[in-house]
Amino acid sequence: MISVLKVLFTIGVIIVVYLGFKYRWRLNDMSRAAARMAGVDIKAPEARSGPPAVQDLVPCRKCGAYVAAGTVCSCEKA
Ligand SMILES: [Zn+2]
Repeated sequence: MISVLKVLFTIGVIIVVYLGFKYRWRLNDMSRAAARMAGVDIKAPEARSGPPAVQDLVPCRKCGAYVAAGTVCSCEKA
């Protein structure tokens, strides 16, 4: 049986979820605006941490397998 209380509870849950998403979107926009003010482009590859997306490959002298420049081939580790 559908009671008024259940309907009001459902509407309340929907409103809480909506406000939660709205808050997250606002935080996202604020962090983007702050980064723009600081002169940092979020999409710039320099801003990302970790290894670069593109690396030069060099052939191994022993087995000929291509490995990232500056790293040791697995055949030399064994
Ligand atoms: Zn090798």
